Amino acid sequence: MAYDFDLYVIGAGSGGVRAARFAAGFGAKVAVAESRYLGGTCVNVGCVPKKLLVYGAHFAEDFEQASGFGWSQGEANFDWATLIANKDREINRLNGIYRNLLVNSGVTLHEGHASMTGPHEVEINGERFSAKHILIATGGWPQIPDIPGREHAIGSNEAFFLKELPKRVLVVGGGYIAVEFAGIFHGLGANTSLLYRGDLFLRGFDGAVRTHLKEELTKRGLDLQFNADIERIDKQADGSLQATLKDGRVLEADCVFYATGRRPMLDNLGLESTGVKLDKRGFVEVDDLYQTAESSILAIGDVIGRVQLTPVALAEGMAVARRLFKPEQYRPVDYAMIPTAVFSLPNIGTVGLTEEEAKEKGHTVQIFESRFRPMKLTLTECQEKTLMKLVVDADTDKVLGCHMVGPDAGEIVQGLAIALKAGATKRHFDETIGVHPTAAEEFVTMRTPVAG
Ligand code: FAD
Ligand code: NDP
Repeated sequence: MAYDFDLYVIGAGSGGVRAARFAAGFGAKVAVAESRYLGGTCVNVGCVPKKLLVYGAHFAEDFEQASGFGWSQGEANFDWATLIANKDREINRLNGIYRNLLVNSGVTLHEGHASMTGPHEVEINGERFSAKHILIATGGWPQIPDIPGREHAIGSNEAFFLKELPKRVLVVGGGYIAVEFAGIFHGLGANTSLLYRGDLFLRGFDGAVRTHLKEELTKRGLDLQFNADIERIDKQADGSLQATLKDGRVLEADCVFYATGRRPMLDNLGLESTGVKLDKRGFVEVDDLYQTAESSILAIGDVIGRVQLTPVALAEGMAVARRLFKPEQYRPVDYAMIPTAVFSLPNIGTVGLTEEEAKEKGHTVQIFESRFRPMKLTLTECQEKTLMKLVVDADTDKVLGCHMVGPDAGEIVQGLAIALKAGATKRHFDETIGVHPTAAEEFVTMRTPVAG
């Protein structure tokens, strides 16, 4: 049967654009549907604007530290509206780049909400198109728990477009987004509290990293409240919010921002007209080839809920395009040793196993740790400390994990990830000459294990 398209991609986010462009480059006839914004979450309400706001928040410290180097200045003032307007301009520019990327690679762009009307058919803007393969790349959406007063809370989508910087913010959650936004609001001058329901935030990260970040954020004056869970939110007559906690305490705020995970975006997607199945957590179930239970339909990225990171969605998009249209170049995505950063202030950078995971997996571990005051801060009052940690297998000498809390941790860990992927041993690290004077050289000069 002749189809309108070889591949119909639903969602022009990180994964969808990558799959569409490469499939078209391999000679396939491709369409992509986008209902909201080209580039998806990462470009519009994720990685990119978030990082711009983190840069913005960092200037508070830069101004403070500059005086130690002899600089003096007038009073520094921050204007939220300028930051948001400049951020929006940059995102508009990127939207245009994404449009050109798609169009120039020969992809047909359909702007509107797409839904599936069968295993080989998509409906958009009242028109129906047939396709040999359909790729679901619809991403995710912030999930806010259903508590009384939920309508007064915002999620990350709204946070990027606030008209004013709130004076008092409660950030709820203990994952990537909560920690990053708490740093943004605090750095920009809002009175910020982070509320996390458990004993210590960033579950799943190395224990030393979690504790170190807790100490550093506390030193900076960020109010961290653990074992704190909101029961209800009430709006006051003056427009301010009152959050009542399960332990009975009442906190006042101008903004309550939930960062409590993301659900797959499946709204009105027409799954019921297909045989696509969901997994226990409600994400689209796929096999190792990203094939759903309906053989003509594939899914990648956040909607499959494996690893919700842009570079992973890109890799999955590439794998699908290659397998379908350039099988001789197909390589499965390797989910081992995925490096990641939390752009908190200071940053976390991490790759490989945490100490806890390594022990659980039965490794006998040697731990190397270094805590030091970064050189840049020695002429300043700032008492911030950097943490670097290596988890090494005592039997094979292989480095199982590298973890860092400190300036540029995300940048530093990218190179370490290549070493770990190549199977580097501690001896390789020891025999590598450092780059002096840098913080990163500490990763190759740690000699004495601290614990076993
Ligand atoms: P998305 O990028 O979400 O794209 C899905 C697209 O599909 C969207 O454009 C959506 O509008 C469209 N769509 C949905 N349904 C339909 C439909 N029915 N019809 C047509 N179009 C539809 N990851 C990192 O690696 N580093 C970071 O620093 C980072 N920071 C983040 C910060 C925040 C605040 C958030 C929320 C996420 C962050 N992420 C980060 C995660 C990253 O953004 C996602 O993992 C990534 O965007 C997933 O890509 P995707 O292609 O699966 O989905
Ligand atoms: P995460 O899954 O990282 O964290 C969710 C947090 O919310 C956890 O601390 C969780 O607690 C808590 N939580 C969940 N449900 C509730 C609830 N009902 N009440 C109170 N707390 C709750 O999600 P995020 O929203 O922070 O981010 C989504 C994903 O986006 C991330 O996992 C990451 O993959 C990606 N991302 C990546 C970034 C980066 O690469 N720098 C930046 C931002 C996002 P508990 O641990 O107890 O379950």
